Amino acid sequence: MTELVIASNNAGKIREISSMLDEGFRILSLADIGFDGDIEEPYDRFEDNAAVKAETIHRFSGKHVLADDSGLCVTSLDGAPGVFSARYAGTPQHEQRNLEKLLYEMKDKEDRSAFYKAVICLIWKGQTHFFEGICHGIIAEAPRGDGGFGYDPVFVPVGHTQTFAELPLPVKNKISHRGKALAALLHFLKNTAPVQ
Ligand code: IMP
Repeated sequence: MTELVIASNNAGKIREISSMLDEGFRILSLADIGFDGDIEEPYDRFEDNAAVKAETIHRFSGKHVLADDSGLCVTSLDGAPGVFSARYAGTPQHEQRNLEKLLYEMKDKEDRSAFYKAVICLIWKGQTHFFEGICHGIIAEAPRGDGGFGYDPVFVPVGHTQTFAELPLPVKNKISHRGKALAALLHFLKNTAPVQ
């Protein structure tokens, strides 16, 4: 079975990626390959941060690697937290504090529109490929639900009334930024680079 390393320590991301790549791959975590370092994400574009994560792990392991860089971009906050989503309330990262800061910054905003963006960098047979997904929605007034991760309790995707934390994972996977990027990646692997 083909081994694929997921270059992330984010349990929520790993759960979603594994649930969509359950056939044909042996998913390896950073712990599985013995990597316990920190990877800096210094860039202001999702693409560049995804690439640095994938390249670091590819150099370390020599295996096929998938890295996701993603975040929430809020219109009335000029696109923040964006690439800084994981560290919005400072370091060390804290999902609950990030969410509280977002709701605080949004308290007087009329325009509550936002989108999630994910860029996946795949290093496959030594070649680098990018896949992108966007999911539009609005920021709820208060958190709802306990599924998902990160900002999901306050993100209501377009066409739904429930937050991503209330919707079942298969529904999130179908419409989410990460789900769309992974669907494009799976299409690529199926059509141009059969799993072997
Ligand atoms: P990264 O690990 O630097 O890509 O940071 C991604 C951050 O964006 C996460 O820690 C979350 O705060 C946020 N994020 C990205 N995708 C999602 C999602 O699907 N649900 C909730 N939060 C997300």
